[in-house]
Amino acid sequence: MKNFKDRVAIVTGAGSGIGAAIAIELAARGAHVVAADIDLASAVGTVTKISATLGNARACQVDVADAPSVEQMVAFVVETFGGLHLAVNNAGIGGPSETTANYPLDDWQKIIDVNLNGVFYGLKYEIAAMQESGGGAIVNMSSILGTVGWENACAYVSTKHALVGLTRTAAMEYAGHNIRINAVGPAFIDTPLLTKNLDTETIEQLAALHPIGRLGTPEEVSALTCFLLSDNASFITGSYHLVDGGYTTK
Ligand code: NAP
Repeated sequence: MKNFKDRVAIVTGAGSGIGAAIAIELAARGAHVVAADIDLASAVGTVTKISATLGNARACQVDVADAPSVEQMVAFVVETFGGLHLAVNNAGIGGPSETTANYPLDDWQKIIDVNLNGVFYGLKYEIAAMQESGGGAIVNMSSILGTVGWENACAYVSTKHALVGLTRTAAMEYAGHNIRINAVGPAFIDTPLLTKNLDTETIEQLAALHPIGRLGTPEEVSALTCFLLSDNASFITGSYHLVDGGYTTK
């Protein structure tokens, strides 16, 4: 189903996990994709996978916590493919496990810079480029932790809640400009962000928190994200959509 044919897309954090899955699905469905990541080699890895299936993609290095870097990323997309129609502000980081009173100030600032400021910078420059391109659709990657808490993760939880408010506000502002903006809230997904520092027993405990009884996959998050980016979601904006195996039913 090539329903993104001739659309230009950007995905941040596209070198790994959820972002890589989204970049690959968008390209498979016909979009011209810029895969952006702080680690250029990993973004190139995603582009290589896309090229192997005859998709059209280019890699771009970006630090989403740095506004000029994000502005240059959007300029690169427009120069390379002639416009911008779809964007996924997905790059994000976890952070140390620590109570709020003991949370290190520098970690708090870094997580706010990447997870929240990074999405604001994305919106700021992507919206301007989309207006020049006649409109578009944006997904911001929140989390189930955009609606519930998680002990010892005050910075991460704060950013993911804030993204929901940012999404709703920007969506109201640009609904009349043919730009839809939504947020996605995954539960625990089997990616390096989650699994690189956890032992098997802890991962099994996390899986058991989901009524479906397992972690989600990056492809399951991509399926929802790509639906929200597609014309099938033409009446959906400013909303926050969970892909959580039933986690928040409890
Ligand atoms: P991941 O596998 O670690 O991928 C995230 C990618 O973003 C990595 O390639 C990372 O590069 C990159 N990145 C980090 N900081 C960046 C920056 N400043 N600028 C540009 N790129 C940067 O993580 P993931 O699990 O796919 O997570 C993607 C998004 O989903 C995040 O926003 C995360 O909060 C959200 N999410 C994940 C889960 C989950 O359980 N996995 C659940 C809910 C929401 P490095 O590896 O070099 O740092």
